[in-house]
Amino acid sequence: MNLKLENKRVLVTGSTSGIGKEIAKAFVKEGANVIINGRQEKAMKQTIRELSQYHEVDSVVADISTSDGVNELVDRVTQIGPIDILINNAALCTSHHFFNTSAKDLKDIFELNVFSMFYLTQAFLPNMIERNFGRVINISSEAALKPYPKLLPYSMTKAAVVNFTKGIAEFVSGYNITANSILPGPTLTNELNHFLTKRAVNTSRDIEDIKLEILKKNNPTSVIQRFVEMEEVAGMALYLSSKQASAITGSAIRVEGGILSTI
Ligand code: NAD
Repeated sequence: MNLKLENKRVLVTGSTSGIGKEIAKAFVKEGANVIINGRQEKAMKQTIRELSQYHEVDSVVADISTSDGVNELVDRVTQIGPIDILINNAALCTSHHFFNTSAKDLKDIFELNVFSMFYLTQAFLPNMIERNFGRVINISSEAALKPYPKLLPYSMTKAAVVNFTKGIAEFVSGYNITANSILPGPTLTNELNHFLTKRAVNTSRDIEDIKLEILKKNNPTSVIQRFVEMEEVAGMALYLSSKQASAITGSAIRVEGGILSTI
């Protein structure tokens, strides 16, 4: 299927590692003009090296957990050119006991996971409306629909992402703009893979056994009985950005391996 994403300009927040980087790579391979974002210069340089072997990329180092950082990202991106596809991916996932969750913990996680996507969408949507084309894809989580008691603030932010996305989809009614959220399940990022490999070496165990044990303990309802691959999330972001997905909007698309038992 030709997704016709060549020369579309895509901003992926938090794209110097993990799922964001995989999404950026998938777009770069489709010939899109990708702007990557992260906080650290070193990780940014490494990502540029990896991705530019496929297609040229732009980059903006900015910490979007503050409004100054969001403004800086918006200013720099606006100088590069209009955004066709906005992918709000950057997020923080911190574990706190409910009774030990401070006001600062709550504020920090909402600032990055929710407020940044609100402000970025607010900044880039007017131009999409003007050009009568746009895609907004917000990365949520299965935790939006299945709150984890040890990750309550995180789960709350991911539920807010789904709600916000549906509202934005309706807000741009009549324009050729869609807004959808993707709900990945536990995903095998490079960082997680590295951690599991180390554990396998230290305990002389098979890494596949360790993966299955962790999954069965934390997500016994997983239908696929394995971690989600980053490419599986990235593939959904590509499809939702294509012309073929023009009738999908306001949806919360599950890429969670069937963990959620509701239909
Ligand atoms: P990750 O920690 O590997 O990557 C997060 C990225 O965001 C990094 O590039 C980091 O530099 C960037 N980032 C963090 N804080 C930032 C800030 N203040 N400003 C700018 N960039 C910042 O995360 P991941 O596991 O790849 O998760 C990506 C998205 O997928 C998140 O929204 C996460 O909630 C969601 N998700 C992940 C999983 C999973 O199992 N990994 C499951 C469900 C949902």
